[in-house]
Amino acid sequence: MAFRAVHAQWGTIFAHLPDLGCAQSWEAVWKARPSAPIVCDECRHPMHAKTSRAGLRFFTHAPGAPTCALGLESVAHHLLKLELAAAARDAGAHAELEVPGPGGAWRADVLATDPTEAWKTALEAQLAPITNAGITDRTERMRADGVTSIWFSDRPRPPWLGTVPSIRLATEDTREGLLVAEGLVKFHGRGWKPVPASLTDFLAWTFARRVVPHTPRTPLWYPQRALPTVWTAPHYITAETAHLEEEERQRRIREARPRRQAAPRAGGVFRCPRPGPAAAPAADRNGPRAEVRRRSPASAASSADAARTDSPHKRGWPSHLDDTNRRRTGRAPVLRASRCSTMNEEDACCSQRSFS
Ligand SMILES: [Zn+2]
Repeated sequence: MAFRAVHAQWGTIFAHLPDLGCAQSWEAVWKARPSAPIVCDECRHPMHAKTSRAGLRFFTHAPGAPTCALGLESVAHHLLKLELAAAARDAGAHAELEVPGPGGAWRADVLATDPTEAWKTALEAQLAPITNAGITDRTERMRADGVTSIWFSDRPRPPWLGTVPSIRLATEDTREGLLVAEGLVKFHGRGWKPVPASLTDFLAWTFARRVVPHTPRTPLWYPQRALPTVWTAPHYITAETAHLEEEERQRRIREARPRRQAAPRAGGVFRCPRPGPAAAPAADRNGPRAEVRRRSPASAASSADAARTDSPHKRGWPSHLDDTNRRRTGRAPVLRASRCSTMNEEDACCSQRSFS
């Protein structure tokens, strides 16, 4: 079964288009007498136009044809191509089926182009089995001619998914038609989670470069599979980078901590690197923290008792800290101060305080 053929006078004709793509009628090739001069686009063997009982129009090779890839195209593949072309048009692009590359190096199932011809993207419906090497080679051949490609399948688990920029589609019982089922993600917390979207929305975002291919460096959360390439928005890539940098920073802090503890004491007494009361900002010197700093441990304890009864706002505490602490404990914040005297106490040095 094929859905395109070559007419001796009109060139390439398409069975799915009302005017065959050349301002002619289906009846001009279907049951025409004498037979319409149409041949296969691949093997040049004569073809006939046919209509199934369900009304599907297609071309079939005349008897005696060689084994031909065009004749092996399934209805499912053809219908997926039509869905891709319709979604690309809804997303604002021009879309043509079965567009050959320069010198026949490749043929795009659907070639979506920007109305200003700023870009070209091949939308490939891949339902037949294909190796990772095969799909990568076809992608590279198109890329060499300046055409990016996105591969689509509506099969449950295409093994090549993510090897090249690709999306798994699924049909839900909605008016939105085909939906993105796998391959479109956003960064959340410490990994990637899927983003539900219609095929049309996904294409509109890719055409506008609002989502781009990305190699994830953090996990794709269950039940997603680990894909080597996903689609996401650039700001989620930035978020993943920031997360990894923070993880690395925390790792270095953890690694440095034992080394500091093992280091020899400088003069036997640890000198707190943080500025003392004399170097503190004026607001701090005059604030409640400075008041506690100046007091002895005994008076600090009594100050803590007082803090439990005094209004924190009267004492000049940042109101947002008060609110946070009150929500957590149901009472006003209490200041606890510690004084450092040795290297081992650095982490609890005199300038550190916590709320209890
Ligand atoms: Zn053929």
